[in-house]
Amino acid sequence: MPQAHSQPLDPARPTAQSLERRRLAARRMLRDCRLCAWRCGVDRVAGQRGKCGLSAESRVYKHYLSYNEEPELVPAYRVFLGGCSFRCSFCDEAPQAFDPGAGELVVPAALAEALQRAVTRGAQCISVLGGEPTLHVHTLLALAQATDNRLPLAINTNLYMSPVVLDLLSGVVGWYLADLKFGQDACAARIARIPDYTRVARANLLQATRSAAVIVRHVLLPGHVECCLRPIVRWLSDALPGLRFQLYPGYVPVGPASVDPELGRLNTRRDVARAIALLRDSRLVWQTPTLDRSAPVAGGTGAEVGTARVTIGRDGRIYCHDLSASLLPILHALAPGDPVLAARADVQACAEVPHCE
Ligand code: SF4
Repeated sequence: MPQAHSQPLDPARPTAQSLERRRLAARRMLRDCRLCAWRCGVDRVAGQRGKCGLSAESRVYKHYLSYNEEPELVPAYRVFLGGCSFRCSFCDEAPQAFDPGAGELVVPAALAEALQRAVTRGAQCISVLGGEPTLHVHTLLALAQATDNRLPLAINTNLYMSPVVLDLLSGVVGWYLADLKFGQDACAARIARIPDYTRVARANLLQATRSAAVIVRHVLLPGHVECCLRPIVRWLSDALPGLRFQLYPGYVPVGPASVDPELGRLNTRRDVARAIALLRDSRLVWQTPTLDRSAPVAGGTGAEVGTARVTIGRDGRIYCHDLSASLLPILHALAPGDPVLAARADVQACAEVPHCE
């Protein structure tokens, strides 16, 4: 079997002194910020803003216990940091994900204590999302420092960071949940307004596998099997055979994408079948989320047991995102035999329910 890249590694854990040096280095880098491939060169500490709009502050705009991660990572305690280097028109976390001012200011010692408490109560990982968490590398290092580097950090990333960020986080991050969004630069430029995407993302992905476990995720966009999924699967099969790959075929258009002629629709059954055929022929360890994947909900408080984010689409239907496992059977019961629901394997991450009359 080819090499696996998705098992937790045991990279050298940084000493307390090394963590302090890294944190200070990250703070210095904010003064001439080139933390991602935009390389803006602005002074974030002095309040100058680059493409992401972030200052030196980090803010949490939501956090909760979730079962919407891979089985070995659940229950995960999800923490969302605002501010992003991308502007994907289909982002289901917009507008908060793009807003550096959304949410509560992070005080590292206090947040570290809360996250450690979540781990003590059973969270298998601290899943940091956004936005793009690696733009907050100084905060991630401060959290690691405040917990003697004991937090099981899983970073959801768009892979557009500067390589030095991966160096700074080596031995601190246990998992990268790498969202490989596009298979070619033209799609990245048109849909997310980012240049040079494939070169940057692929180089960073290779580097990430040397310091942490990596699971690549891909949201299948309507009409993007040939232009995006095919080159992604081909390159990953050659470069990182045995890599864990999670396909999300259950894309639901929200926000600007819902009225976009290209993105304002669901994937067709035919496209999903072609995507799965590509994966069957690949050298990846792949899966799609399924309705059967349930998880116990013991240990949560009432507020944590059942959560979902609900939006009403322009088409008049109700969309539920960020589902807790406990809500899945309820949604399934509400939409028995729904053809769209049945066609989509991704209901764990994003389920659709017909309007209740
Ligand atoms: S993190 Fe990236 S987008 Fe933000 S200021 Fe720095 S280089 Fe620019």
